[in-house]
Amino acid sequence: MGIEEKLPSGVLLTTVEGVAGYFRQASFWPATFGLACCAIEMMTTGGPKYDLARFGMEVFRASPRQADLMIVAGRVSQKMAPVLRQIYDQMAEPKWVLAMGVCASSGGMFNNYAIVQGVDHVVPVDIYLPGCPPRPEMLMDAILKLHDQVQTRKLGSNRLEQIAEREEAALSALPTSEMKGLLR
Ligand code: SF4
Repeated sequence: MGIEEKLPSGVLLTTVEGVAGYFRQASFWPATFGLACCAIEMMTTGGPKYDLARFGMEVFRASPRQADLMIVAGRVSQKMAPVLRQIYDQMAEPKWVLAMGVCASSGGMFNNYAIVQGVDHVVPVDIYLPGCPPRPEMLMDAILKLHDQVQTRKLGSNRLEQIAEREEAALSALPTSEMKGLLR
């Protein structure tokens, strides 16, 4: 991906990971991007009452090239999906995606041909936030959990090992079709 991937493993890399993770998690710039009712809660989160500025991310960027966090706030229509993907592709690496609300995460109650049944069909999602709509406190909680992910993100050869481990865990996880929920 870049010079990061060429870094050798060892004590030095562990230290670089810690420093890079600290600065990255403390300086998220979200893309200005709202799709439906969840976006109202996202906008509220940026207001003075909830004060996202505390976490260094009050600046929602109008250009995807200046953003490293995509908050997918609302249902994704089939027509919007390629646009969303294009915005994601234009964001600079490293970048993260937060699926906000049940519609973005799984299609929610819109189980029909017009709505993408989970934005993970279009872009890789780092964290899912349940709720309809999730309250601003829930969004901030998800952002803080994402901070933890970013802080512990590996670099260089350690990153390749981490990706392999996560892929292994995903392959051995119980398929959602076999999960038992309230409706089964
Ligand atoms: S999860 Fe609820 S609030 Fe959010 S977009 Fe869907 S219907 Fe709207």
